[in-house]
Amino acid sequence: MLPDLTSERERMVDRQIAGRGIADWHVLDAMRRVPRERFVAPGFEEFAYEDAPLPIEEGQTISQPYIVALMIGATAVKPGDRVLDVGTGSGYAAAVLSLIADHVYTIERHEALARTAERRFAELGYRNISVAHGDGTRGWPDAAPFDAILIAAGGPDIPQPLRDQLAIGGRLIVPVGTELHDQRLVKVVRRSAIEFEEEDYGAVAFVPLIGEHGWPETKPDRADRQRGRRRIKPAARLRSLPELIREAAEPLPDLDDPAAFGALFDRFAQARVVLLGEATHGTSEFYRARAAITRRLVETHGFTIVAVEADWPDAAAIDRYVRHRPYHPRTEPAFQRFPTWMWRNIEVDEFIAWMHKHNAPLSDPKGQAGFYGLDLYNLNASIQAVIDYLDKTDPEAARIARERYGCLTRWQRNPATYGRAVLNAGYAMCEKAVVTMCRELLEKQLDYARRDGESYLDAAQNARLIAAAEEYYRVMYYGRRESWNLRDQHMFDTLEQLLAWHGQEAKAVVWAHNSHIGNAAFTDMGVVRGQHNIGQLCRERFGEDAMLIGFGTDRGTVAAASDWGDPMEIKQVRPSHRDSYERLCRESGGGQFLLDLRRGRHEELRHELLGPRLERYIGVIYRPETELLSHYSEASLPRQFDAYVWFEETSAVTPLPAERREGVPETYPFGL
Ligand code: SAM
Repeated sequence: MLPDLTSERERMVDRQIAGRGIADWHVLDAMRRVPRERFVAPGFEEFAYEDAPLPIEEGQTISQPYIVALMIGATAVKPGDRVLDVGTGSGYAAAVLSLIADHVYTIERHEALARTAERRFAELGYRNISVAHGDGTRGWPDAAPFDAILIAAGGPDIPQPLRDQLAIGGRLIVPVGTELHDQRLVKVVRRSAIEFEEEDYGAVAFVPLIGEHGWPETKPDRADRQRGRRRIKPAARLRSLPELIREAAEPLPDLDDPAAFGALFDRFAQARVVLLGEATHGTSEFYRARAAITRRLVETHGFTIVAVEADWPDAAAIDRYVRHRPYHPRTEPAFQRFPTWMWRNIEVDEFIAWMHKHNAPLSDPKGQAGFYGLDLYNLNASIQAVIDYLDKTDPEAARIARERYGCLTRWQRNPATYGRAVLNAGYAMCEKAVVTMCRELLEKQLDYARRDGESYLDAAQNARLIAAAEEYYRVMYYGRRESWNLRDQHMFDTLEQLLAWHGQEAKAVVWAHNSHIGNAAFTDMGVVRGQHNIGQLCRERFGEDAMLIGFGTDRGTVAAASDWGDPMEIKQVRPSHRDSYERLCRESGGGQFLLDLRRGRHEELRHELLGPRLERYIGVIYRPETELLSHYSEASLPRQFDAYVWFEETSAVTPLPAERREGVPETYPFGL
């Protein structure tokens, strides 16, 4: 028996479809009625209402719900229409269309898919759909002309027979592009026998349209690809966006002069909390820039809390060192678990050395600057423990866990990763054991924290934490989307407690990924997935007293892994996507600069940037080969951040060596 997913379906329509601005009543109503879980492959029901395409048989995909809605909305399908759907796939889009149009003709080149879809239509009682097995690029001449034609696979150009089969006034939509998984969605309206109007609907990634008027069966060669190259005329504007950026950009001083670099950020120092992001977890310039800004905020503006996206106990080991507190021989060296390079790197090492020196002459502990981890639940240690346990008890479940931890991120949309992350039977059987294990880990950690001599965590708070942790570990174990909200809520709560403990006047700098720092309400995360983050919670709690600063880059190298738990590699960051904010910054030619995005500074630019556009997110895992699907998401940059720090070309962090360095005392937090 399938679970009842009605509320998931409602949420999907509200957030992913209506939330993204599709208001066509026919589309919304039809999508509320088609049970998408009946169109996904067995085992994938759990993901049916994700904001993503999913794999189906024959190596094909069921389209992302939003794309289905966008295509139907763009072609303005309405009651009475005759519609041609090329690329039946699972049959989902045809089913949605059938609830709006008079009759739907759908063609699929894989016979098995065509037959499965036909069976589904019969079972669900959709009687106004005709299914054919064949090459859809030739259309369905006997049933033409069509009021609307939707092509759910990407070709090098618009197939001529399909143009010809459009009624006058008819609308066609098709992904077109030279790259197999990077196309433009193009809409065509037939105005007369010979006149066709085209409109660009932005970047998409579809499976290839294979047929006489599409791609050949084998991989297309260069000449073929050239065929599909098309130029989209940019909208006319007095000054281009890159020009507006160039005018507003304030050049950043060299990072070798941290004092000058930090001083440029004095304008944000009146805030209680300054949040510093990063577009990757492995870029040297982001760490060095944050270090320079933080030094300035600590030295000149009275900030005493440096709170980072890291496990509490690891950060506590650093804190003991930077605040000259007694060495704690019972704790293991800090940051020894995946992803080690995120904190165990030369850039952080230099910053820690500076904090240590800065605090040395300060006798009042409250005046010293402390280093804290916002992940009180011990995220990385818990994940590691779960994976180690599953490796021993059920290696297949361990593989799934790695995939889930590594890839079901808020921006992940790559169908292949969902395929690898489907649960096996053994998974649920381990739940109790791993939750207990994680809880024990947490209890041990809190025990250490208590013995540390700081009353930061009182007994009541400890008890609350442990009780809430059960739920957290459970959703984390399944890699569910709620785990994101629980975690960010938790990181925010930790920040609030730190501020409260340090007193009324306390000020904090937060270091975390852009996806935690930028206001999620103005990104796909918030709009589509209902996720919030520290940046949003800080904005709601502190208003203008929180400054949200994002960081970005166009290209270079980055330290990242290919999978959760895999070794760190130095990977090439691909030049940014042409539809992204990053590309605009690159085209401004500015090199490295600060963009002050607050209201009243550069209003024209701010207005033009409101977007939304693509923005790149690289975490501890980077998969350049599926970059558009795995690492880009839409956002409205000026609403997401108060300022944006740009480095056109960047390089990877330098991880600390594994062996103990000459002359480093045993008490040193990294224990090397
Ligand atoms: N709308 C579908 C759904 O909701 O499941 C998604 C279909 S999938 C993205 C695209 C489909 O187009 C694949 O099943 C693929 O086999 C099919 N396809 C590719 N080239 C085709 C062609 N020339 N004729 C018919 N189908 C084609």
